[in-house]
Amino acid sequence: MAATWYGLMCSRLPLASLLHFPKSVRPVLIRVTMDRVPAAAEGVRSASSFLHDKAYINGKWVTADSGATIEVVNPSTGAVLGTVPDMGEAEAQSAVDAAYKAFQTWKDTTAKERSALLRKLFNLIEENKQELAKLLTAEMGKPLAEALGEVNYGSSFAEWYAEEARRVYGDVIPTPMKSRRLLALKQPIGVAGMITPWNFPNAMITRKACAALAAGCTTVIKPAEDTPYSALALAELADKAGFPPGVVNIVTSSRTKSAEVGKVLCSSPLVATISFTGSTNTGKILLKQSADTVKRVSLELGGNAPFIVFDSADLDMAITGAMACKFRCSGQTCVCANRIMVQEGIYDQFVDKFAKAIEKELVVGDGFDGSTTQGPLINKAALTKVDEHVQDAVSKGAKVVTGGKFHEKGGNFYQPTLLRDVTTEMRCLKEEIFGPVAPVVKFKTEEEALAVANSVNTGLAGYFYSKDLSQIWRVAEKLEVGIVGVNEGVVSGVEIPFGGVKESGLGREGGKFGIDEYLEIKYVCMGGV
Ligand code: NAP
Repeated sequence: MAATWYGLMCSRLPLASLLHFPKSVRPVLIRVTMDRVPAAAEGVRSASSFLHDKAYINGKWVTADSGATIEVVNPSTGAVLGTVPDMGEAEAQSAVDAAYKAFQTWKDTTAKERSALLRKLFNLIEENKQELAKLLTAEMGKPLAEALGEVNYGSSFAEWYAEEARRVYGDVIPTPMKSRRLLALKQPIGVAGMITPWNFPNAMITRKACAALAAGCTTVIKPAEDTPYSALALAELADKAGFPPGVVNIVTSSRTKSAEVGKVLCSSPLVATISFTGSTNTGKILLKQSADTVKRVSLELGGNAPFIVFDSADLDMAITGAMACKFRCSGQTCVCANRIMVQEGIYDQFVDKFAKAIEKELVVGDGFDGSTTQGPLINKAALTKVDEHVQDAVSKGAKVVTGGKFHEKGGNFYQPTLLRDVTTEMRCLKEEIFGPVAPVVKFKTEEEALAVANSVNTGLAGYFYSKDLSQIWRVAEKLEVGIVGVNEGVVSGVEIPFGGVKESGLGREGGKFGIDEYLEIKYVCMGGV
């Protein structure tokens, strides 16, 4: 049996084969294989109770109508973890119908009831967080400690919105006429369609869905093809928590069918709002598609974050910030530093220290290996794009200080890379790199740094390091972004409004602000008083 498991992992046969056995037998099958399981498979094995091979619609675990499936691959090893249904228009429509039907009663639940269910969901995520983190590392590749950080971040939205659910207040408006009383009521908007990315497969779902559920909305969620398991695991926990059928629905699909699912969500009159996190290109498609039904659309899109280090900065603090901001999730977050700009007085010193930190602190490898800080890129397309950015910069005069190549481990791994003498003509400054490449540009004045920082069409996060108080106010106010880190490289949190300006998005998620995306304000005028 041990050999069977080993064979499963090595021959790329799906782990889901195990799921074809009755549930009572699975733990035995899994246990007896322990001694021969490769290290990287360890986490998947113990997370196997969450490896759902079905999607979740109307409280039931279902296959695609056609029976079609897609394989989910561990990006560290290339091993197939299992399969999920490849759904399209029909299944998306049935999820929307279920969500719409469920909304008719869910909207009338009390805030206290919704709060209690979200609290149960929070407790269940907490109880299962080690397994959820392993599942996340297996399907996405990020180091286990980072995955656990994401699950903690994800559960914090269940906890936060359990609390916020009870604080959705309307207004009594002072009346200009004695015979009238004026009220503003807040009501749930309706069915919320959600499309989420692969880089935060757990937290991007809870950040949206927990706010929507707290407000009294029902949800249809389409996770990314690469990372459906974390979404299905959350559905299982929502089911266990007691959310009624149809309130949470997960539609899985392949990349080839995601447009079909997206079209149903955007064009259905039964869906009241679309919440999307992903690339700016996809966001624009969804925005256009939602125009015909005049839907509310919330978009968390791509960034191209400036990370500015002024001469007055605390250099060590700036290096610590740059390491965390650039290399978290192997550079695959929308708020990662993309354009690192350093003032000429400290440029050489910064590059030198940054290179030493990269070489000393970053360890590339499988996310299940305890020493790994840098997991793989999500897929081959991402790997190729990152290398193209490096080659383009080098061909235009940038110098590789460290890294600059595909990693010797092969697969989807890329060397953590530092480029100097980078200019604004290079692709890595114009576009999001979304990988472990740090391009460093030299600038002379604050005006020049701001002009470069604000020269792009995106505006999600921006960071800068300075000890000059007047400069801190000036730059924080002038940066054209939705999120500013001043002497801080990691600024996310459950309490804060997360979102961008320009082509980085519409609306805000998280904090007291996030729930507003799922509420309508209704004005009531009572006459004849
Ligand atoms: P993407 O291609 O836009 O994919 C994101 C999601 O959209 C996936 O679920 C994808 O499904 C789906 N999708 C793609 N095309 C679609 C269509 N025509 N209709 C409906 N759904 C569609 O983005 P990505 O390149 O994977 O993700 C990285 C991007 O997300 C980066 O630009 C990053 O900055 C951004 N991001 C932003 C935030 C934020 O909060 N602002 C957070 C994380 C990531 P499939 O995977 O099945 O194609």
